[in-house]
Amino acid sequence: MSISIHNLTKVYGSQKAIDSLSFDIPKGQIVGFLGPNGAGKSTTMKILTGYLEATSGTASVNGFDVQKEDMQAKNSIGYLPEHNPLYLEMYVKEFLEFAGSLYKMKGAALKNRVAEIIEQVGLSRESHKKIGQLSKGYRQRVGLAQALIHDPEVLILDEPTTGLDPNQLAEIRALIKEVGKDKTVILSTHIMQEVESICERAIIINLGKIVADKSIKELKSAGQSMEEVFRELTGKHNEANNA
Ligand code: ADP
Repeated sequence: MSISIHNLTKVYGSQKAIDSLSFDIPKGQIVGFLGPNGAGKSTTMKILTGYLEATSGTASVNGFDVQKEDMQAKNSIGYLPEHNPLYLEMYVKEFLEFAGSLYKMKGAALKNRVAEIIEQVGLSRESHKKIGQLSKGYRQRVGLAQALIHDPEVLILDEPTTGLDPNQLAEIRALIKEVGKDKTVILSTHIMQEVESICERAIIINLGKIVADKSIKELKSAGQSMEEVFRELTGKHNEANNA
């Protein structure tokens, strides 16, 4: 399994942000991780990426326990955090070289990899600019490039298309689909259309618990739209059904 979570729980004070979550994602699958605001999506993703420690339960990525074998697990993961924090004063190439150096890449191998990834995510024409000069869509490409720099097996994308205009949205979705061809991807989103266009499976959580874990086809088998399925399972409208 590329991602394996078993009885994962995170407690903040007296509140359970996630409550005994369990799921497995096999290699190569693209999975939508859905839920209303506050459901526990970011918490789960932060535990998977090693940014946060679970209160109990286990999580492994590419066979490595995220707590006990954190370095190997981290090397298997590319992570695009929510709001894509980037160094706006850095040049695109400089930033990606920095990102690669964090994985001990250096010299010609690093330069070649940066050139390759710039090409792959469609940043060639913008690669001489500072990140702060780029549009939001291009910044997301930089975020994806940094997530992919070490050619990880697993990609974890936290709301990768939030705030993009319709054109940028379509482009970033296509890019995720393309790079996801030979990777395992888990992505959180509020946009049901996005789940239908990119993902084969959806895990829906509400109040820290899984309320559905099925293929998109199965979820929609009663003839409902994904918006209707989401509303029925969570009792909430998804926040961004305008895209
Ligand atoms: P989502 O990503 O689905 O919107 P989060 O994982 O961010 O949900 O949050 C899950 C729950 O945990 C929410 O109720 C949130 O308020 C709470 N929470 C998240 N981070 C913290 C924190 N650092 N301290 C206390 N509560 C938190």
